[in-house]
Amino acid sequence: MLHGPCGDHNPRCACMSEDKDGRKFCSKKFPKAFRETTILGNNSYAEYRRRDNGVHIVKKIYGNDVIVDNRWVVPYNPVLSLKYHAHVNVEICASIKSIKYLYKYVYKGHDCARMTISVKDSNQIEHDEIKTYLNMRYVTPHEAFWRIFEFTLDEKSHAVTRLDVHLPNEQLVYYKPENDNIRQRLSDAELRNTTLTAWFELNARVPEARTLYYYEIPEKYTYKKGAHGMIWDRKGGITGMVNKPCLGRMYAIHPKQGELFYLRMLLLHKKGVQSWEDLLTTEDFDGDSEPKETFQDACRAMGLLDGNVQWEAYFDEAKDYATPFQLRELFVAIITHGENVDVRAIWDRFKEDFAEDFSRNDAVERAERRALVEIEKMLDNAGDSLTNYGFDKPNMAEFENEKPWDPVEEMARGNAMRRDMYPAQERVVSFVLKKIEELKNGTLTNGCIFIDGPGGCGKTYTYRTLCYLMRGMEIKWTYDAQNVRIAV
Ligand SMILES: [Zn+2]
Repeated sequence: MLHGPCGDHNPRCACMSEDKDGRKFCSKKFPKAFRETTILGNNSYAEYRRRDNGVHIVKKIYGNDVIVDNRWVVPYNPVLSLKYHAHVNVEICASIKSIKYLYKYVYKGHDCARMTISVKDSNQIEHDEIKTYLNMRYVTPHEAFWRIFEFTLDEKSHAVTRLDVHLPNEQLVYYKPENDNIRQRLSDAELRNTTLTAWFELNARVPEARTLYYYEIPEKYTYKKGAHGMIWDRKGGITGMVNKPCLGRMYAIHPKQGELFYLRMLLLHKKGVQSWEDLLTTEDFDGDSEPKETFQDACRAMGLLDGNVQWEAYFDEAKDYATPFQLRELFVAIITHGENVDVRAIWDRFKEDFAEDFSRNDAVERAERRALVEIEKMLDNAGDSLTNYGFDKPNMAEFENEKPWDPVEEMARGNAMRRDMYPAQERVVSFVLKKIEELKNGTLTNGCIFIDGPGGCGKTYTYRTLCYLMRGMEIKWTYDAQNVRIAV
């Protein structure tokens, strides 16, 4: 499959975008450069090998011959092309960041559409704001087919065992208020193991388990019912053969949770623990055979709170699952609740992650300034400020009122885009403009225009053109992927 060709050969190609200065560019970044070898970039698409071997075809674009070579080939997989008799764009996603996005998709839920069905006399549209925002599940024919035939929706390579992290005697206890004797349930819970207390018990019983961290235990042991309650039992009996790989996972714990947070930190660094006292004892580090008072003290004695190492490790983990907003929140929690935090060092190392959401629309420096403003706002609520950590006071006003646009400029841009339109797009634009005129002169009081068309046919381009034109006319409007709302 070949892309375009677009660019100067074909400025009206669907892929063409425009930057702030009105320069046109291909949003899919074609033509790509020739290269000898495939390069896996950091957090970006792979750059595939494209051989400069003279192979090309000649394509007629608006009557001109255009040479199309390897630089225009869309990444593909021959097996998939053959199997589906179709063009399939295939990209390798090998970055750890893709996990984060996969998770987002899993938890986003079904495809949705906002819709209303209303019947009223044909000239009048009932505008009921609540109804307009009814969220409906949206199932395409493809998906319906897939589900009706009960094809698999997902596969899993590893089982994940969630590991309890709880303070002594603070394990979760479940009960039914209507028919459980709560006192009885509590004393039962005291005797029953959790995955954590069963780990203590396993270490006491099985010497070889002491070579593993808590989170590694599920790789070799199964949590199951033994003769006297729940235990960790060696997988695969005497042979130790493991069929289904398994991973252990401890809940993430917010630094604000204090002791529980430090308990988890200890669990990440201590092996062979046989009791709570054992967990609190740091004899190997400071020669003190008495258990420490708190988990935080034990962390300190082990050198886990020295310098920024722990916090950098913490963000290194968090940046792969937390959203930029959550990361900023964690940063603020650590600044206000942590100890030995080198705020500047964490900022410098993770600023890209803290500003990830803003950098989609803004240049890097501006996105980072914006992230600092957001962090400062949160710190301010906690009675703190970045200025206490060697930062200049962020310019809070910078993002208060985003620059108002210049109507003349917007109108010019709208008109320029309109000149490049296909006839069908132009029909939409002139129709909408006519209706706006009618709204202005009072022959129309309200209205709703529905634009339908398959994906990629240029609806967004049409909306954008209309938006520029309406800004040019200084008309109030709002816009999202599906809707443009206009108020005259
Ligand atoms: Zn293009």
